[in-house]
Amino acid sequence: MALIVQKFGGTSVADTEKMRNVAAKVIREKKAGNDVVVVLSAMAGETNRLIALAHKVSELPNEREYDSLISTGEQVTVALLAIILDSLGYQAKSFLGFQVKILTDKAHKKARIELIDTKEIKKELKKGTIVVVAGFQGVDEDNNITTLGRGGSDTSAVAIAAALKADRCDIFTDVDGVYTTDPNVYAKARRLNKVSYDEMLEMAMTGAKVLQPRSVEMAKKYNVPVYVKSTFSDEGGTLVTKEDKEMEKEVLSGVTYDKDQAKITVVHVPDKPGVAAGLFMPLSERNISVDMIIQNASAEGYTDLTFTVSKKEMKEAQKIINAAAKAVGAKRVEVDDDVAKISIIGVGMVSHSGVAARMFKTMSNEGINIMMISTSEIKISCIIKRKYTELAVTALHDAFGLEKKK
Ligand code: ADP
Ligand code: ASP
Ligand code: MG
Repeated sequence: MALIVQKFGGTSVADTEKMRNVAAKVIREKKAGNDVVVVLSAMAGETNRLIALAHKVSELPNEREYDSLISTGEQVTVALLAIILDSLGYQAKSFLGFQVKILTDKAHKKARIELIDTKEIKKELKKGTIVVVAGFQGVDEDNNITTLGRGGSDTSAVAIAAALKADRCDIFTDVDGVYTTDPNVYAKARRLNKVSYDEMLEMAMTGAKVLQPRSVEMAKKYNVPVYVKSTFSDEGGTLVTKEDKEMEKEVLSGVTYDKDQAKITVVHVPDKPGVAAGLFMPLSERNISVDMIIQNASAEGYTDLTFTVSKKEMKEAQKIINAAAKAVGAKRVEVDDDVAKISIIGVGMVSHSGVAARMFKTMSNEGINIMMISTSEIKISCIIKRKYTELAVTALHDAFGLEKKK
């Protein structure tokens, strides 16, 4: 007997008909003799609808109440699935974050899970109950509801799998695995049978939304085998696991894109110690993550500093940076949210040379200007004009020969 965590995303629970299909998948696992914990997202579109409601009544909604509101979509799906399972003769019980107790820090809208109390879940599993947990939500030490960031149900699922020492965490979604690039953008994308935690983490962090980055971080830390599978077919699947020799043979495992990017330039900044800290400290105090940073060569004691943030946080970042720029004596702040980040990822980069050059050449052949570049051991990212996103993805996918193997 094994303990399996099954997570179903928004499109998998989009309506009651689809939820019956989910119930069938859960029951199959239960009938095979396993203990099953199910983690659900809200119905497709529901979290967006709730977010829009909050913004309809306030430009900057109170964060505590915002989380309280946007977490409700998951309450609907977990209760509905438990009702369906019960009506089919299976003992099932739904849990919200605070009922499990999924304890998080206080960072509303992007809370981190600190601890999961497994007592209640284990008690129910022992009784043979199918446990259905609301994804995306937790509770802080003062009993405020928190949410884990968009796509956070993946992280709920992996965290629960880690806490319960589950044998497997299955992430069911609308594609049958992790592909070399978003299969909805390029039909020639190829499904990967296996991908390493590190590659998957870079892919997730650079925009492949099939898994939330924190879920991959957690899977790696606690060594949870994660399978990405289709809710609608038994074919395919991708195992996210430790790196092996096979993986290093390939130069790249994927191409990703992220349109949730905005570029901020602080013009004519005095080039002296403490200035970068003066600009970035206020952002970090407000919990705004800065991604790429470049500083131009200094001329006559002044320099320009450009960095990227999530487009969703651009307005807030701009406000903070306007004040900080004034304080450090910079001339002005410019913002550009008409950009995207294109990245190539692969553990093979370490042992193959010329990868960056090939990437830049491909972009130039397509007439795409590169505005910023950043690299890590297994990733190269470029900021480009947003309208070239799909062109860059397909050109790079072709240039590195990632297409379907015949
Ligand atoms: P869910 O609602 O099940 O959590 P998501 O929409 O969050 O599903 O994630 C699945 C989507 O991720 C797919 O429909 C696909 O368009 C997108 N995606 C982006 N990059 C990739 C990739 N490299 N491999 C697979 N899917 C990807
Ligand atoms: N419902 C949440 C969202 O749309 C969480 C998730 O789907 O994973 O972001
Ligand atoms: Mg998702």
